[in-house]
Amino acid sequence: MALHDPNESRMGVAVSTPRIHTEELLLPDLELPATPAQAHHLGVVLRRGAGDAVRLFNARDGEWLGEILAMRKDRGSFVLRERLRPPAPEPELTLLMAIIKRDALDWVVEKATELGVTRIRLVQTRRTVAAPPNPERLQAILRGAAEQCERLGLPRIEAPLPLHAVLAGWGEGRLLVAAERRASPPIAALAGTARALLVGPEGGFAPQELDDLAARPFVSPCRLGPRILRAETAAVAGLAALQALAGDWAE
Ligand code: SAM
Repeated sequence: MALHDPNESRMGVAVSTPRIHTEELLLPDLELPATPAQAHHLGVVLRRGAGDAVRLFNARDGEWLGEILAMRKDRGSFVLRERLRPPAPEPELTLLMAIIKRDALDWVVEKATELGVTRIRLVQTRRTVAAPPNPERLQAILRGAAEQCERLGLPRIEAPLPLHAVLAGWGEGRLLVAAERRASPPIAALAGTARALLVGPEGGFAPQELDDLAARPFVSPCRLGPRILRAETAAVAGLAALQALAGDWAE
C-alpha cells in the first residue's frame, strides 16, 4: 500500500510551509500587511523572507497559498496566490472548563483546539482557586494550536462566568458533566449526540454543585473511567472520547 508522503500537503504544498491565521479577507492576488506578531514569528523565529511561501487561513475564506513580499523585524507583507482549501463548517463542540492553574489551563486550551473544540467557556466554581486567565494569552495559544493542527477555524473563548449563571443561560442541548466518585454512567454510554462537556477544578465540584447539576434536566453526569484524573487530563480525555464516540473521529 502506498503511504501518504508526510512532507507533502494539499496541492503539492510542503507541510513545512508556515500556516498563519488571519482575520483579513482572503482573495486572489490580494496584498496583505503582516501584523507585528506574524512578522516576528515568520522573520525572526522561522527565518523566512521575501519570496518564501506561506499559507494564510481563516474559517470564512479557507486556506490560501501566499508569498512573502517583504519581511523585517516587526513589519512585512504577503501576496495571495491560490486557494488550497475551501471553508468547511466545523461541528460544534463546547468545553466548559473550571478555571484551573495557569500552566494546566494553557495546556487544556491548546489541546482542546487540537481536538476540534469550537467554544471554550471558562467557569468559576465554589472550589475555583486560580485567578482568571489573561484572555490575550489564551487567544495566542489557541491561534498557535490552530496553525499547527491544520484546522481552519479558532475556538471562541468566552469570559469566565459563575457556574450558576452558565446553567441558568444554558440552551444548547445535553451537557455532560465529568463527575468522579458518583455512580455516574460511563461517558461511552452517554456520548450520543452530546456536544458539550463540563469539567471541574483541581478540588472537584462541591457536593451542592453536583446536586444542583444533577437536578437540571439537560445535564448528564458521566464517569471517565475508574481513576481520578487531574482536571486537565479529564478535559482532554473527555473531549477525545466525545470525538471518538460521536464526533468527527467517528466519521
Ligand atoms: N478532588 C477530587 C477528588 O479527589 O475527589 C478530584 C477532582 S479531579 C482532580 C478534577 C475534575 O476532573 C473533576 O471535578 C471532574 O470534573 C474531573 N474528573 C477527574 N477524574 C474523573 C473521572 N474519573 N470521571 C469523571 N470526571 C473526572
